[in-house]
Amino acid sequence: MGDEEKALEELAQEVKDCHRCILSERRFCAVPGEGDGHAFLMIVGQAPGEGEDMVGRPFIGPSGHLLRYFMGVAGLSFGDTYRTNLLKCMIPRYSRPKWASICACLPFLEREIALISPRVILTLGKFPAKVLFKLHSLPVPPENRTIPALFGKPYEVQGRVIFPMPHPASIIYNHSLLPDTMEHFRALGRFLQENLTE
Ligand code: SF4
Repeated sequence: MGDEEKALEELAQEVKDCHRCILSERRFCAVPGEGDGHAFLMIVGQAPGEGEDMVGRPFIGPSGHLLRYFMGVAGLSFGDTYRTNLLKCMIPRYSRPKWASICACLPFLEREIALISPRVILTLGKFPAKVLFKLHSLPVPPENRTIPALFGKPYEVQGRVIFPMPHPASIIYNHSLLPDTMEHFRALGRFLQENLTE
């Protein structure tokens, strides 16, 4: 096992043992990231869902199935990515992440990014977009309702591309978002094909 894999394993164990914020009180499992430790593309969702909480793995529930489908639309292999979440523990259904939990959990995500050093980070939903923009010193829209205007476009900064997307879970609750989401993932595929293939 290489040094990076070992460091990712240690990080995963720290996540599983973490009680830094209030979300540890309701979870069944904390959910560390998983995937290719040398991935070109990292996916950052918001938080695990109930299915993920039961088994301790990210993107294995309904949103994960949709994400696999959308990755196919973009011509990308889900298996070649590294997948993680802004928060490693489930949040109550229909609630928004609290900034206290985001701040407590952020060091884990920062370490994942440092270890994997992905060329492209795909963010899913408003909060991951907001946080990844802040981390890369990109201007963040002042209001949450204007964040969807960022979706489906690349933002290049510090040798990296941040590509914000809607969260697949939003399609489950609002089917009318499907055509735009499909187009955003097609745009991702085109961008990668035109700019980042060797
Ligand atoms: S959400 Fe993050 S900081 Fe909070 S308990 Fe879970 S792993 Fe720890």
